[in-house]
Amino acid sequence: MNSILVIAEQRRGELMPSSLECIGAAVELKSSNNSTVIVAIIAANASEFVSQLSLEGVDEVITIVSPVAHFQADFSEAAALSLINDRQPSLVLAPHSVDAWGYIPALATTGNYGIASDVFAIRYEDGNLIATRAAYAEKLHQELEFPSYATTVLTVRGNTFKVIEQSGNPVVSDFAAPAVDLRTKHIEYIEPEGGGEVDITQAELMLSIGRGIAEEDNVEQFAELADNMGFTLGCSRPIADNGWLPKYRQVGQSGKTVANCQVYIAMGISGSVQHMAGMKHVANIIAVNTDPEASIFSIARYGVVADIFDIAEELETHFE
Ligand SMILES: Cc1cc2nc3c(=O)[nH]c(=O)nc-3n(C[C@H](O)[C@H](O)[C@H](O)COP(=O)(O)OP(=O)(O)OC[C@H]3O[C@@H](n4cnc5c(N)ncnc54)[C@H](O)[C@@H]3O)c2cc1C
Repeated sequence: MNSILVIAEQRRGELMPSSLECIGAAVELKSSNNSTVIVAIIAANASEFVSQLSLEGVDEVITIVSPVAHFQADFSEAAALSLINDRQPSLVLAPHSVDAWGYIPALATTGNYGIASDVFAIRYEDGNLIATRAAYAEKLHQELEFPSYATTVLTVRGNTFKVIEQSGNPVVSDFAAPAVDLRTKHIEYIEPEGGGEVDITQAELMLSIGRGIAEEDNVEQFAELADNMGFTLGCSRPIADNGWLPKYRQVGQSGKTVANCQVYIAMGISGSVQHMAGMKHVANIIAVNTDPEASIFSIARYGVVADIFDIAEELETHFE
């Protein structure tokens, strides 16, 4: 039977949430492609992840025991290649992650598979796989088909597909990967400087500032306002590029996606495609901008054509 293979990922003993999103995508697709869903996990302690991967809609979980504790590209490539040869899935999904970049391109080339990276929509039309990804700095969405490939590998953008909450009862099996020459060795993890302080991807309430704040001295006023309101402060790229706020607060294509956000207040942000890439999915966007033609209003639930300093002053009286 036709199958969709998900290659799940772990780091430092924790299953990466993006793996669960890939499973969500596979299960969403399985009925339109009349497939089974197989989930493989490559890890030294692979069997420890079985229960987390045993989700509703998953037909089989395969454990592949790695000879090393951390990600190793040669082993992942050889193991995935061997498993694909054995199971012949038509579609392989892996997270669009730094580990996947380390072996998926080589895997696709060696196996002669179709490949697309950073995919955020996948569907079948008349039995043909169609994957959507962005191009030209998110200005264009491309739809790709893979007509001449028996197997296609897609790396899947994070925070795009729903995670399945219900557990299931898949068959569990082991797969012995071939021995391979390991040409690289994991040395250590280095935490990004200052990156751990605030994780805007998890914030539910965000107040973001853009170039409309005009100068650095004005940042403090909005930081205090956000704090008093119980909102997490975010920003557009020019604010981070100027060093007015740290990079980890930047929302957008080259910043972060505010995956959990319920309310997003955009203050003096024009709404470039790159900024919107990180927040346009938020259900309640409130935009404040003096320019009634600003693009941000095209996605805002509530739009306020006003000066951000007047609005900030008014809000301050409610949240002191
Ligand atoms: C490859 C690439 C990646 C990028 N990644 C990102 C990214 O991750 N995140 C990101 O944000 N950008 C990103 N950018 C930059 C992006 O293209 C825009 O330049 C940027 O988003 C603009 O920021 P802004 O909206 O703050 O500034 P502007 O576009 O200058 O907008 C400022 C807005 O403030 C309004 N305004 C001015 N004064 C006031 C006032 N007193 N009251 C109310 N409104 C006022 C103006 O009307 C205007 O709409 C990227 C660009 C490239 C090429």
